[in-house]
Amino acid sequence: MSEAAELLELYEHAPLIELAALADAERRRRHPDGVVTYIVDRNINYTNVCVADCKFCAFYRRPKHAEGYVLSFEEIGRKIDEAKAIGAVQILMQGGHNPYIPFEWYLDLLRYIKQQHPIHIHGFSPSEVQFFARRFRMTVDQVVEALQGAGLDSIPGGGGEILVDRVRRLVAGKKALTAEWLEVMDSAHRHAMRTTSTMMYGLGETNAERIEHLIRLREQQARSGGFTAFICWPLQPEHTEMAGSPKTDAVTYLRTLAIARLALDNFDNLQVSWVTMGMKIGQIALRFGANDFGSLMMEESVVSAAGTTFQTTAEEMEHLIRGAGFTPVRRRQDYTLVQEAA
Ligand code: SF4
Repeated sequence: MSEAAELLELYEHAPLIELAALADAERRRRHPDGVVTYIVDRNINYTNVCVADCKFCAFYRRPKHAEGYVLSFEEIGRKIDEAKAIGAVQILMQGGHNPYIPFEWYLDLLRYIKQQHPIHIHGFSPSEVQFFARRFRMTVDQVVEALQGAGLDSIPGGGGEILVDRVRRLVAGKKALTAEWLEVMDSAHRHAMRTTSTMMYGLGETNAERIEHLIRLREQQARSGGFTAFICWPLQPEHTEMAGSPKTDAVTYLRTLAIARLALDNFDNLQVSWVTMGMKIGQIALRFGANDFGSLMMEESVVSAAGTTFQTTAEEMEHLIRGAGFTPVRRRQDYTLVQEAA
């Protein structure tokens, strides 16, 4: 039996507790100290204008739509200051594929942030980088070098969805295909930038295609070695063109996480997606292969409210991690620990 077939057999048929035990043993082997990390950061979506038309996306607005926006540098700077004031160590900056923004704007924005509001910038997912390359007639390496030269620190794994072109063409036909997504990660890693990786499942892919996605990530990691972590979550179909698609359940999430821990044997860290699965499944996920509680992302309303609201949330997160039997520690994007916290 091929390795992919073995993983598929486990994914589909192993008893849940057996799968959990296998994944938990892998997690313990890598993280025997019982530490579960998390990061405090802020999500900044610099524009919602997008021409990619992904069927699963509720965020974007077509050009000329009344609700389309592009944030000003000052607005972005203010959001960074608010985030830093309550402990954020990075921003996650992503946006739509906006055909009206010139390339210089992105470079000026990165320079502005580094000069006026310095913080780690985790930004521009592979599909955005590919959009820039196409639109501005540059190679991926040229885009990556220019962004890095202007201040970009690392690249998020957004837009990975399922790295199988049959599936990508069904739901996000105008966006980077599998090889293009991986090409950006390869380029980033060659330029000594660390990146994360993702999987959004429930798009109509088969279980075998989920396994194929994981194997593609592992092969890329073997080639370029710059992925810090992997995170998966199910499609959230509400308010999208895919509304009405069947929602997957918590057991599917836990099985998917566990099989990812077994397949991704050259990845150090697996993150919990409590944002989509809720805190209780998040706690359980720490026994299905995950060793990181992901991001304590600040919501607009939380940030503009008093800092105490956030502190309570951070405390709750640490309380949940402790409740699951682990020691919570704050980290940075590269998984170095923020010692003064926790
Ligand atoms: S590229 Fe991003 S913003 Fe645009 S439609 Fe797809 S998921 Fe939404």
